[in-house]
Amino acid sequence: MFEDFSCALYTELALAAGRAELNELRPYVSDDAMATLSARPLAGVSTVLVGALTIRDVSNLDGVSDKVSVEIEIEANLARRDPETGDERAVYVVERWVLRRAKTARSRQPDRARILACPSCSAPLEALLAGKCRYCAEEVSTGAFDWVVCSVRVIHERERGPVLAGHSATDTSESPSIVDPDARARFDESVGDSEAYAALVARIIHTFDTFHEAWSAQNLEPMRHLTTDPLFESQAYWIAEYKKQGLCNVTEDAAIARIELARVTSDPYFDAVTVRIHAHAKDYTKDARTGEVVSGEPTSAKRYSEYWTFLRKRATNAPAASRSALAAARRDRTRSEATARIVVPKWAIARSIGCCRESSRTRPTTADRAHERLRANLTLEARTNLAGTASSR
Ligand SMILES: [Zn+2]
Repeated sequence: MFEDFSCALYTELALAAGRAELNELRPYVSDDAMATLSARPLAGVSTVLVGALTIRDVSNLDGVSDKVSVEIEIEANLARRDPETGDERAVYVVERWVLRRAKTARSRQPDRARILACPSCSAPLEALLAGKCRYCAEEVSTGAFDWVVCSVRVIHERERGPVLAGHSATDTSESPSIVDPDARARFDESVGDSEAYAALVARIIHTFDTFHEAWSAQNLEPMRHLTTDPLFESQAYWIAEYKKQGLCNVTEDAAIARIELARVTSDPYFDAVTVRIHAHAKDYTKDARTGEVVSGEPTSAKRYSEYWTFLRKRATNAPAASRSALAAARRDRTRSEATARIVVPKWAIARSIGCCRESSRTRPTTADRAHERLRANLTLEARTNLAGTASSR
């Protein structure tokens, strides 16, 4: 959810800078970050495609500080028309942003993750003047209510996309799995029975097959309903990048050899399941026009493994407490009508790491550990908030 929000915020800020209307988003930006953004040559930016967003560090989770800071790294492509010359250019950027928020601030509800409004009362941004909201009269760019960008650093900026035709062909299939030994027990306890597990496995295989077909065909549309929006957008970014450079990355004869359940977590909104997938595929990149292979191995399959995280909204009409009742109802055919009304949301893939395609970007790193820490913290907080909401009613 944090990634979803920061991705939306990055996009909106770059677009606002493109229109020279950065002030609209004043509540989400500190003075320093505003000065940095205003000084950058962003005028004329009309398209923003975030390719990757990683959490590099989380600080101040200790008991002393009242604010938590998160450093993110964003890789993006900006399409920009120079306002003076009228030239259209693609700019590839890598940036590091630090976002800060009070620990007491409430986490966003998942359906509001991408909405930018008054951080205190959700009034439209037009209601804000000089960092103050006309509706709730709060000073809102302080980080007391929501995340505020407090620093912006450009690590890299160049006019053309990243290098795609290089491969580091490391076989990661034999490295030891990072697996929670209680994962299956957790699944049984908070997600579902063996039927639900079989359905998840079928969904994983379907997602895997659909993805490889869509990826190699450079048309991700068949993946849309199987993917969360941010992951879909980042995959679409890479496809656009390959196309722009006249290349096509192909994963042929891709097949799953084994699926390991690695981690299962649940919060009030989502069930999340991480699996390690052991697979093999012929992975190569060809010139899209001539078909000539420019890198990779078109003749022999390479073994690899990836961690995939699947998310599912918790069924609102099937709360955790009644899950065992649901299972019982499913067994009891006389109550099948009642069961049929319960809609169980489908799993969507939200994250994949450790894949060989973009090795520098996707290998699990300290950034992933930072991500885990943040996740653990925010999940806990979401629970606390929910409890708070319930008791104040
Ligand atoms: Zn307000």
